[in-house]
Amino acid sequence: MTDRRTRECGFGVDYPFGTIDEATMVLTLDPDFYGDDEDAPKTLRMQYVVCNACEGRGSYVNPSVDGHGIGREEFDEDPDFREAYFGGAYDVTCHECSGKRVVYTVAEDADSPAGTWFARWQAAEIAYASERAYERKYGY
Ligand SMILES: [Zn+2]
Repeated sequence: MTDRRTRECGFGVDYPFGTIDEATMVLTLDPDFYGDDEDAPKTLRMQYVVCNACEGRGSYVNPSVDGHGIGREEFDEDPDFREAYFGGAYDVTCHECSGKRVVYTVAEDADSPAGTWFARWQAAEIAYASERAYERKYGY
């Protein structure tokens, strides 16, 4: 049951894989992923927080333009570039929030059963992600 207010999401460490209903702000976990985990809740309450990547602007300057850092001289030497830069000519839609300015986060109380499960899940995901990064770094 998917309409425009619901979307598939997850596969990060921010929240488990499932479907979020934006009208109720409830994430329904995908049982294909968590069916074996008897402690897994069926749903998690969600909330919006301001996107960290773009600081709520919904866009940022393309990192290929200023990822190396732009010095004052570059602006002073090229006023047209300066104007275009600050006018948003090099802006790209934020990759993290797709321009929505906000991202989802889990809103369960930390000491509730669902919150406890989520904290454990997230810690395991972070450990797994860093293990994978380590393995890639050393070429396993
Ligand atoms: Zn963003």
